[in-house]
Amino acid sequence: MSEQMSERIKNYINTLENNLDKAYSVAIKSRSLGFDPEDEVDIPLTKTLPERVEKLVASAVPGLKESGLSERISELEKEYGAQAWEVAMIIALEVAQQKFCKFQNSKDAMEAGIRTGFAYATMGIVSAPLEGFIELRIKKRKDGKEYFAMVYAGPVRGAGGTAAAVSLLIADYVRVKMGYGAYDADENEKSRAFVELTDYHERVTNLQYKPSEEETKYLQSHLPVEIDGDPTEEIDVSNYKDLPRIATNRIRGGMCLVLSMVALKAPKLWKAVSKIQSQFEIQWSFLSEFIALQKKMKAQTSGSNDAGRKILPDYTYIADLVAGRPVLSFPLRSGGFRLRYGRSRVSGFSAASLHPSSLFVLDKYIATGTQLKTERPGKAAAITVCDSIEPPVVKLLDGSVVRLEHADKHIEGIAEIIYLGDMLISYGDFYDRAHPLIPAGYCEEWYSQEFEAACKEKFNTTDPEILSSELGISPKIISGILKSPLTKYPNAKESIMLSMNLGVPLHPRFTPYFSQIAPHDLNDLNSWLQKGKLHFEGNSLEKIVLPMDHSKRHLEILGVPHKVISGEKIVVEKDEANVLFVLFRLGDEKKELPKFDDPVELINSFSPVKVRDKAGTFIGARMGRPEKSKMRKLTGSPQTLFPVGNEGGRMRSFHEALSRGKIKSSFPLFYCASCQKDSIYRICINCRNKCEQRYYCRTCGVTAKQTCQHG
Ligand SMILES: [Zn+2]
Ligand SMILES: [Zn+2]
Repeated sequence: MSEQMSERIKNYINTLENNLDKAYSVAIKSRSLGFDPEDEVDIPLTKTLPERVEKLVASAVPGLKESGLSERISELEKEYGAQAWEVAMIIALEVAQQKFCKFQNSKDAMEAGIRTGFAYATMGIVSAPLEGFIELRIKKRKDGKEYFAMVYAGPVRGAGGTAAAVSLLIADYVRVKMGYGAYDADENEKSRAFVELTDYHERVTNLQYKPSEEETKYLQSHLPVEIDGDPTEEIDVSNYKDLPRIATNRIRGGMCLVLSMVALKAPKLWKAVSKIQSQFEIQWSFLSEFIALQKKMKAQTSGSNDAGRKILPDYTYIADLVAGRPVLSFPLRSGGFRLRYGRSRVSGFSAASLHPSSLFVLDKYIATGTQLKTERPGKAAAITVCDSIEPPVVKLLDGSVVRLEHADKHIEGIAEIIYLGDMLISYGDFYDRAHPLIPAGYCEEWYSQEFEAACKEKFNTTDPEILSSELGISPKIISGILKSPLTKYPNAKESIMLSMNLGVPLHPRFTPYFSQIAPHDLNDLNSWLQKGKLHFEGNSLEKIVLPMDHSKRHLEILGVPHKVISGEKIVVEKDEANVLFVLFRLGDEKKELPKFDDPVELINSFSPVKVRDKAGTFIGARMGRPEKSKMRKLTGSPQTLFPVGNEGGRMRSFHEALSRGKIKSSFPLFYCASCQKDSIYRICINCRNKCEQRYYCRTCGVTAKQTCQHG
């Protein structure tokens, strides 16, 4: 990897490493002086994932320390790739087979193995494998054989959904290889799981994903390992208590979290496990059927419009709507947020960007940092702004339509939001949610690539100067399209020229939303446009003036900016006028549009200039529930490095304590043998020798031993 680094990055990494080494050596030296409660730096320094995993699990299973575990993980990584699930599964089995250290019994070994695999799956950075996975319980099947129950607790949350679900996979692999049976849930246990999920969701805290009864029972019937948990809540489940194989009647938070994660992450899980399951002799094909079941349930078809459409509206994000959380757009509904792939400097993982004007037209209800629940790719996104994406298209009170690039303009006079503008979502979010990529509307970065390809094909160059003389457009605009398509673009006439010359589609900025209009409405619009009066200045078309007519609505839906003059005339100016002129061939004799079911195909068969679909996919969104993330209150009294006792006052002020001259507090007991004096420090303040620690017993008083007969 290091060979691929640039000099600059190499230097950066070196600086980090050198300074870290320096900081550690200072820390080690100062700890060794003995002034601190401990003589060593207790945060282990690890450079690689295998080392991290070993150190993490070794804190729970000391036998694994320096047992060759991290070396073996590195070896497996070479074979399967870093962070591969295969590595987690194989290492889990090898620990369970006691290849690194011996265990008291095979249950302990299998538990340590699963823990190790889980730690690997979480990259060794969270405590979930230690605190979130409590233990492996071996329970009896109805036929007397034994099966695995994974006991989880609340901190499993820290593992993240996928890793939590993968821990079951790891356990299942160990189970199969060690010769244990599969979990055989009975009807009561299936129902218990659903009741418990519902109770947890409604009475404890909202689950990120609440599986339906059908989903829950399906999973319970097919999961080969039982998801169990320690009671985490004070309250009992509302039904299905006292089941013989479930140890508690109280709600098990860890169980609820993991089960709901398996349901949520099923597509991602299946995508990976389908490739490796036969090699590992595990049977998770039920996930495929489960995903089909989920899809069927989610697709709440609304009328015949959706029939035959591949992408179905997804209602999940508005399923648990609460009052006061506005729904900004409905699933797939035209005019909602237009999907735009990409990242801005301030967006990223689970952080999407909107155009600043979009925030304004939403009455400033949405701001930077607002959490939106989105239809796709699912889950939530924190909102940031980006002004190089498509702004909203709005209708003003006087009927004019504008593309709202500058939010503050016109903000008072908006009658209707026709298009809400883009939502910039990173590809990684789709990958993370295992959501297939869906069509995006035509956009500048796409145009730029088509333009570049066309130039290469026709002129065998992308040199702006050469292209300029061939195409008759300034080199500045050409290099703008190639290098900074988000901010530089041709005007409509130039775009039309480029399309005629190179066969590239019309620039997205001037592309109307044809897919959002019915073909017969296009006919309607066409005959209306033919009635328009064209105003030229010299050779150049300056505006089209149209009579007020119901067909104006079609122009609005196309998102073509226009003005309304004294309520009677509709004026389409410059760029837009030129675009309509070419697309509808307004210079030719009056023409009928051909017949097509698809409006984009229709216009392409008619116009000399090609257009692409500008709309792509509209995404539904609603405001999230930020209040659900409660204020993090610091409980108890503030902790300070130097105890100041009550003498420090309410503010624990060092100065105030100093002015009193003495404090009352609890201190450890130390004794300096050479000065024969009590001390509160580990190092004697008189002679600088190490003191001995003393302990206190209620009966004997101060003693030298940590424990005495009185306990
Ligand atoms: Zn001393
Ligand atoms: Zn005692």
